[in-house]
Amino acid sequence: MEEKSMVRQLPSVDEILRWPETASLIASYSRGIVVNAARRVLDRLREEILSGCREEVSSSEIIARLRQEVRPRLQRVINATGVVLHTNLGRALLSQRAQEAVKTAVAHYTNLEFNLATGKRGERYSLVEELLCLLSGAEAAMVVNNNAAAVLLALNTLAAGREVIVSRGQLIEIGGSFRIPDVMRQSGAILVEVGTTNKTHRRDYREAITERTALILHVHMSNYRIIGFTSEVPVPELVALAREYNLPVMSDLGSGSLIDFSRFGLPYEPTVQETVKAGVDVVTFSGDKLLGGPQAGIIVGRREYVERMKRNPLNRALRIDKMTLAALEATLRDYLEEEEALRSIPTLKMLLCPSEELREKAERLAQMLGSLEGIAVQVIEGFSQVGGGAMPTAQLPTWLVAVTAAPLGESALLKALRRADPPVIARAEKGMVVLDPRTFSEEEIPLLVEAFKQVLAGG
Ligand SMILES: *Cc1c(COP(=O)(O)O)cnc(C)c1O
Repeated sequence: MEEKSMVRQLPSVDEILRWPETASLIASYSRGIVVNAARRVLDRLREEILSGCREEVSSSEIIARLRQEVRPRLQRVINATGVVLHTNLGRALLSQRAQEAVKTAVAHYTNLEFNLATGKRGERYSLVEELLCLLSGAEAAMVVNNNAAAVLLALNTLAAGREVIVSRGQLIEIGGSFRIPDVMRQSGAILVEVGTTNKTHRRDYREAITERTALILHVHMSNYRIIGFTSEVPVPELVALAREYNLPVMSDLGSGSLIDFSRFGLPYEPTVQETVKAGVDVVTFSGDKLLGGPQAGIIVGRREYVERMKRNPLNRALRIDKMTLAALEATLRDYLEEEEALRSIPTLKMLLCPSEELREKAERLAQMLGSLEGIAVQVIEGFSQVGGGAMPTAQLPTWLVAVTAAPLGESALLKALRRADPPVIARAEKGMVVLDPRTFSEEEIPLLVEAFKQVLAGG
């Protein structure tokens, strides 16, 4: 039983804790974390030995595994995918000011729900409501945990037990299982689908209106497009129709933007301001998509509806946290002057980064990687994506650093990069691994080089 004797030769947790390398881990994390991690590492090694898939175990390997194991599970990664609003990588990055606002909000007591003028209880939304009204042109505003929650709260408040009319072409699913029909059911509202997948007319809406109708819902088809023989009823026409019957109109803008990106050569997306101006009564959108702020669901619209939503008991379960509120306020303040927003908000900077700058960054990385033994590097033209279900058809021209590291194939190289410290997330294209400078920063170039060094050293 050679395996049994190998198991007996494994060090004990106590022995591991006495190793000098372990002492530094205990200093940077805590004894509890390291003890726990050591147990898990030993358990796994024991299993591997007993299942016969190991010949030997070295102490340096135990240390390497221990290092992996003690790292916090939520880690910084380098986004080299070129997908700006990568939902799986945390969507929008916050501006410097927003980061500082979060720090202040968590390190100190705040007037989160305290009116400093009266000394009485205040309303947490009041901190951003004024800004949101100013920026959107709406009468009232509030914020919840994310846009899915905003849609749920709005439907529940305005239409529980009654009917909501939606075009079939707008019954969308967003990644992470947000589906309009499901949210509708959860809210207690009754879905009335009108039109067909590709065409919905004004008369389809009109014919569906009954005394049970509570709301006409418009959903921005954020993450897909129907092209060809299609028609949707434009929002202003929906508003005109709803007015005839004294019904409210709600628009789920999805991404929602305060800036008209078509001015910069990007695809047109309806802005929050123009949606409000068109007379839509309730508009919902995300805080961490094109807005470039924290995860949040923003609701702007007519006061009577927003006030009802604030009073809905469901709201207590969906409410926004103080860190988010701090980050959102700081982000919105930047939008008071568009130039400032474009200068400070990382999402906007990435989306609008000039081609020259991308090319220079790509060249700089390529040059540094090119000096490493064992890899071939070139700079090629390619495309980045907006992500987050926004502007799905937008192809943003970029310059890519394309790398091959024979004998590693592209998927082995991608995997090795994911295991580097910090992990690098890239993508494969035409048999090469490509790194898009749109989504990594100048400061991350040395870290990328370091990651490649680790990959090449580890084989
Ligand atoms: C993204 C999106 C949502 C969900 O927003 P979250 O902030 O991710 O909850 C809802 N509706 C539309 C149209 C979207 O694009």
